[in-house]
Amino acid sequence: MFNKFKNKLKGFLSKSSKTLEEEMVEEELPPQPPKKNIKRKLRVKKKGKPEISEKRKTKGVPEPPSSIIKGAKTGFTGKKISSKKLDEILWDLELLLYESDVATTVVDQITSEVKNKLTGVKIRRQLSIDKVIERALKNAVEKVLEVEPYNLEAIINSPNKPVILMFVGINGTGKTTTIAKIAFMLKKKGYSVILAACDTFRAGAIEQLEKHSQNLNMKIIKQAPNTDPAAIAYDAIEHARAKGKDIVLVDTAGRMHSNINLMNQMKKLKNVAKPDSIIFVGDSLAGNDVIEQAIHFNECVGIDATVLSKIDADAKGGAALSIAHTVGKPIAYVGTGQEYQDLQEYNPHWMLQRLFN
Ligand code: GDP
Repeated sequence: MFNKFKNKLKGFLSKSSKTLEEEMVEEELPPQPPKKNIKRKLRVKKKGKPEISEKRKTKGVPEPPSSIIKGAKTGFTGKKISSKKLDEILWDLELLLYESDVATTVVDQITSEVKNKLTGVKIRRQLSIDKVIERALKNAVEKVLEVEPYNLEAIINSPNKPVILMFVGINGTGKTTTIAKIAFMLKKKGYSVILAACDTFRAGAIEQLEKHSQNLNMKIIKQAPNTDPAAIAYDAIEHARAKGKDIVLVDTAGRMHSNINLMNQMKKLKNVAKPDSIIFVGDSLAGNDVIEQAIHFNECVGIDATVLSKIDADAKGGAALSIAHTVGKPIAYVGTGQEYQDLQEYNPHWMLQRLFN
């Protein structure tokens, strides 16, 4: 997963650190305190007088930053990155991000964060240069990955049953598989689930969902192809209400977001089903396209969260890095394979680990 990204990142880090090694000159050392003073301080300490930091505390004098203390201890303050070299590093970083399909706004956000972190920074001898750059980059990436979490548990524990979850996204993204994975997860947690086959645009979609319903031993409400999806959703919700079921998962036609008629049909479906949550399923392999799709679906019906499928097959990592920040909606889950159990709650730290380790 994310292998291309990681290889490019390695190349970027070693190139940046080489560029810097070539040009960096140690700054002048600060004047060292005479040895006599140090000895006197040690004697004072031995006699049981308060240590310097304690004195500072009692007098309210602020402590110097720990880097300065360390610098003073080692007699070394650091090396500075020149603005010319920093520009070169940022240029390489930009290239790495664009080649990994990261969205423009996210590229801008990451590079400006890294620039802020590295401008005027002094690199201590103990730290290797690539570690300093990697740390700045990790911090910047962490910021774009952090979004408010999606709390499905809170949604499905609503007293108003049945809870309705509607899934949107274009064909082939893994929407049906994701619905089945979520159904599997909810059933395992003890909820009763009904599937609503509202993708009536393709006969294959109804058959596919029916197959999952058989595998998972779950009720499916379906009708013939081309039936009004809103009517099927209505039937499914009525059935769930009558039978006291907890959750209805509504599949929708995997239409292109540019098809106005089909998008209008989806608005009607939303008005009838009144979903508690609308979840966009996006294919992480689609790179920047998935962001465009999410934005369109959000404009059309309003999405509450995203599931990013096929992250196990994604070598570039761009969509994973960009989608939450650009769309402004939480990533609820990531799809990590083709089996029912291959679904994980989104965790920005997990994602960061996958991108960098
Ligand atoms: P839909 O047309 O959007 O409903 O897409 P499907 O659910 O039919 O999925 C399309 C293909 O993607 C199928 O072959 C799925 O097995 C596969 N798929 C779905 N989710 C994942 C995933 O997380 N990882 C991998 N590797 N494949 C997936």
